[in-house]
Amino acid sequence: MKIGFIGLGNMGAPMAANLAQAGHEVTGFDRAQVSVAGVAMAASAQAAARDAQTVVTMLPNGEILRSVTEDIFSVMAQGVTFIDCSTVDVDSTRAVAATAKAFGLSPLDAPVSGGVGGASEGKLTFMVGGSEAAYTAARPLFDIMGQKSVYCGPPGAGQAAKICNNMILGVTMLATCEAFALADKLGLSRQAVFDVVSTSSGSSWSMNAYCPAPGVGPNSPADNDYTPGFAAELMLKDLRLSQQAAQSVDADTPMGELARDLYAAFVEAEGGRGLDFSAMLPKLAKSSRS
Ligand code: NAD
Repeated sequence: MKIGFIGLGNMGAPMAANLAQAGHEVTGFDRAQVSVAGVAMAASAQAAARDAQTVVTMLPNGEILRSVTEDIFSVMAQGVTFIDCSTVDVDSTRAVAATAKAFGLSPLDAPVSGGVGGASEGKLTFMVGGSEAAYTAARPLFDIMGQKSVYCGPPGAGQAAKICNNMILGVTMLATCEAFALADKLGLSRQAVFDVVSTSSGSSWSMNAYCPAPGVGPNSPADNDYTPGFAAELMLKDLRLSQQAAQSVDADTPMGELARDLYAAFVEAEGGRGLDFSAMLPKLAKSSRS
């Protein structure tokens, strides 16, 4: 299949490379100069999208998604599937999907979980919104780039699932870091905390798969001086999206709101920018109640 892939950053590049390696003819575009194994580079987003049977985007935010799609939809053939894998606000996703339909395209919002490691290994999870028929047709591509895809419902449902998931992630990471910081002061070893919690009712992905304590549990960014991984500022972006969505539908999300405020302070005033989101542990371990 001829695939146009726009946005070849940390996530998009390995995703596009996996599609090419599986035998698809992938033409890519990024506004930065990049090269990706097996992917032919186009001179513009329009050139990457023009002859494609499917176009995939993996871009930083909703504003950029809106501007790229304004540019490419008019050159795409009727019936082409448009898959946006970026994490963006639900309103942008729904607006872009409506425009895509007006151009006769089949839009899917398909944000991912699994990070750069999952993208490189083809082990992402896709949460997909759009028509079920478009999802079924695109599923072979999700199966190349990921290990699981879940059809969530109409346009925007994939983004809604993504921000709900990441709101839980932000909250559980904070709770896990707090528990380690408390255990330190109670004289409990971090290894004991991990061994108990990872097999008890306090367990979560944040503890079991991405332990924020260095030298404990599976290898994680904590073992690499908190080099991301998943940067604190990306977690802040997702928590802001969750609170923006919560406000728009009058949902009460006090833990998500507090997590957003704590990550905002961490990124903007407490040295967290550029660190993994699990670096909340050294910050909390150093601070005190008063
Ligand atoms: P990134 O910044 O590495 O990549 C984004 C790419 O888009 C960059 O290469 C940039 O040059 C390109 N770009 C920006 N504007 C463009 C334009 N107008 N035309 C063409 N290309 C343009 O970011 P990333 O880590 O690859 O993340 C991409 C998306 O995936 C984000 O929405 C992010 O929230 C989401 N995401 C990231 C992770 C992660 O762990 N990094 C995990 C899940 C989801």
